Amino acid sequence: MEILRTIDSVRQWVRAQRAAGRPIHFVPTMGYFHEGHLSLMRRARADGGAVIVSIFVNPLQFGPREDLERYPRDFERDRQMAESVGVEAIFYPEVAEMYPAGYQTEVRVKELSKPLCGRSRPGHFEGVATVVLKLFNIVAPDRAYFGMKDYQQLRIIQQLVRDMNLSIEIVPCPIVREADGLAMSSRNVYLTPEERTAATVLYRSLQWAQAQYAAGERDAAQLRAGVARQIAAEPLARIDYVEVVDAETLQPIERIERPAVAALAVFFGKARLIDNCLLGD
Ligand code: AMP
Repeated sequence: MEILRTIDSVRQWVRAQRAAGRPIHFVPTMGYFHEGHLSLMRRARADGGAVIVSIFVNPLQFGPREDLERYPRDFERDRQMAESVGVEAIFYPEVAEMYPAGYQTEVRVKELSKPLCGRSRPGHFEGVATVVLKLFNIVAPDRAYFGMKDYQQLRIIQQLVRDMNLSIEIVPCPIVREADGLAMSSRNVYLTPEERTAATVLYRSLQWAQAQYAAGERDAAQLRAGVARQIAAEPLARIDYVEVVDAETLQPIERIERPAVAALAVFFGKARLIDNCLLGD
């Protein structure tokens, strides 16, 4: 497996793969891999491409009081895990390679960046859209794989691709969960054992919403309130937001008449966890 530290070396590697007639399948990440990341890599490989993963903890998408410094990192472990699922190259740049002195440009997907996490993390999605567009320009993949765990991010990237006329197919991948339902996340390492147990309330409450929806409930406020009530009953949980929004526009809705998403962000101690589920296809 190739470890590529510079943009030039990525371009060279990609050229060689293309010359061999192979499509490029790309998985952008911040590292500290878990089964969620690996599921994207396996899918990228199963789809028959040369698989390249990026590992970059992007400073631009962290707020001044967020966890940039303590975000978990273990390159050697990531390297081995990626290799075990058939990844052929890792782009692992230094911050100065991505943002050299004098760097200025930011990308903003205006409306989709406003609600949900955009409200509590100002500038976050500008950081995400900017780094992903840069990575797309560096790697020039045929397909790129994103987890539905970060549903708003996925919608923003889909919009970015459309608006910027990128010829990249975005492949959404299902949320991978622990046995007790907690969505896998690099940030789960922040949880104390008590918080880890308490955090199972998130998936339970989303499952409740899905069951209510399946039984015919279409009142978004009822679903939202029910999820929020269950989470608020957990003493270690502090709700950032719980919302039921249109799956395409991410705007709040009153009745579910088109596909919707129940989305939430909840603090457990130092960890801010997000999760979501679709209501309707
Ligand atoms: P991150 O390293 O957290 O930026 O995540 C990199 C990619 O992995 C993103 O597309 C995430 O949506 C995806 N991802 C993270 N956690 C999960 C999960 N539990 N299930 C599926 N995909 C995930």
